[in-house]
Amino acid sequence: MRYSKERELIYEALWASKEHPTADYLYNMLKAAHPSLSMGTVYRNLGVLVKSGKVAQLRMPDGPDRYDADLRPHYHAVCKVCGSVIDVFSEYSTELDAIIKKIEPDSSSYCLTLHRLCGECQKHC
Ligand SMILES: [Zn+2]
Ligand SMILES: [Zn+2]
Repeated sequence: MRYSKERELIYEALWASKEHPTADYLYNMLKAAHPSLSMGTVYRNLGVLVKSGKVAQLRMPDGPDRYDADLRPHYHAVCKVCGSVIDVFSEYSTELDAIIKKIEPDSSSYCLTLHRLCGECQKHC
């Protein structure tokens, strides 16, 4: 019982966050209100959520994996300065999907990361 409750908690925190948190970040976010939660529990439940297809795992080129509960097709842009991950919902290209499939018919998925400045960092430029 407790196990699935924790998973629910982790999922909801992920859903509420638009920041694509890492496991560490999620743990730090939750531990104040849920002191019994352990780092291992967060990792384990994230693994289960990814495996069951409820959560997307984003492999970052330089840094720990991040997680996204929003499964609508979208791209991610990483800020070149602060490293924050931004959702890009406009212009999702199924044509690009088809091209990738042509390049590698055996591929099951691909990961495209765009690089830009986030709104916050743009202000300081
Ligand atoms: Zn930034
Ligand atoms: Zn996203």
